[in-house]
Amino acid sequence: MKKYNFSPGPTSLDRSILEIAEQNIIEYGNTGVSILEISHRSDNFQEILNHTKENLTKLLNIPSNYKILFLQGGATFHNTFIASNINKTKLTTNLITGTWGKKTYEDFLKIRNTNNISLKNEQIEEYLSNNLGENNEGVDYIHVTSNETIEGIQIREFNKIKNNLIIDSSSDIGSYEFEWNNVAYLYAGAQKNLGIPGVTISIVREDFIEENENPIYLNLTKLIAKDSLLNTPPTFAIYILKLVTEWMLNAGGVKFFEQQSIDHSSKVYSLLSKYTEYVDIPVENYTRSRMNIVFNFKDKTYEDLFIEESIKNNIIGIKGHRSVGGIRISLYNSVDKQSLKFLLEFMNSFFEKL
Ligand code: PMP
Repeated sequence: MKKYNFSPGPTSLDRSILEIAEQNIIEYGNTGVSILEISHRSDNFQEILNHTKENLTKLLNIPSNYKILFLQGGATFHNTFIASNINKTKLTTNLITGTWGKKTYEDFLKIRNTNNISLKNEQIEEYLSNNLGENNEGVDYIHVTSNETIEGIQIREFNKIKNNLIIDSSSDIGSYEFEWNNVAYLYAGAQKNLGIPGVTISIVREDFIEENENPIYLNLTKLIAKDSLLNTPPTFAIYILKLVTEWMLNAGGVKFFEQQSIDHSSKVYSLLSKYTEYVDIPVENYTRSRMNIVFNFKDKTYEDLFIEESIKNNIIGIKGHRSVGGIRISLYNSVDKQSLKFLLEFMNSFFEKL
């Protein structure tokens, strides 16, 4: 029985990707070996790596002065990795708009001095329009979480910030277009919009890279010099990333997925806005995430019932994060029109019965 997956990640992959992967698990092309068995030092894998980088470059319009790196350890590893690769003389600030940005700040602090600016969702628009210029003066890098997956708070207009940015884009990469001019470093775990767990994509502007004496897996210069092959990379996760980026390019690229996420999220938010008698949406309009839609039932009994009924209807993954409760519906790129229609029909009939 097909399940409709609206989980916050790892999430679903398009069926066509699973089918290609399935064939290649048995035998990768005509190589006589499975994709799971090929050597990371083989020509076949080098080709996969090159294509994946080319696809990402096209998809995200990455300028030529950026390097692309595939690492393990998830986005979480980057808290340590990035903080260890910024010279201690540099000034950094962590913009905190939710749980993940707070965790990054706490890890940064264990490694280097850093400031923080904590903003409630309703302060973000104002922050971006004035950029609280005086507070950011002289700051070399500001760390931003473009989409706070747990709270459903998204900052798509980070280009308005004048400083150089380090962006955790784990839960919204590939879902809208942006400019690279103030982006020094962007990273994302693949398991939401770009594939499966195991690989984290780093896109690093050349001027960010500084020599240091870090141990090798914490050493950005060395990892880049070895082009993601300093040690054994997550070959299968990179292969899936290649398939997903191909699928995205064929569908019409980021423009297509941006439009899709606008359509999908606005339909869900507008349905919810008809039922404000029963639900609260805690995030104000400007920062409402198009990827993770968070809402709370005023009456907890309805919330439990909503989750129970969703499961009966083969809808999975919509229970809010254990730290905040409520409901969270994730609408990543792989959620297609048909799945959205199914969700909207379920929600409509649930609310009509109340
Ligand atoms: N940052 C964000 C925005 C996330 O959503 C997540 C995972 N949900 C993480 C960081 C942590 O990612 P990982 O599990 O890949 O370490």
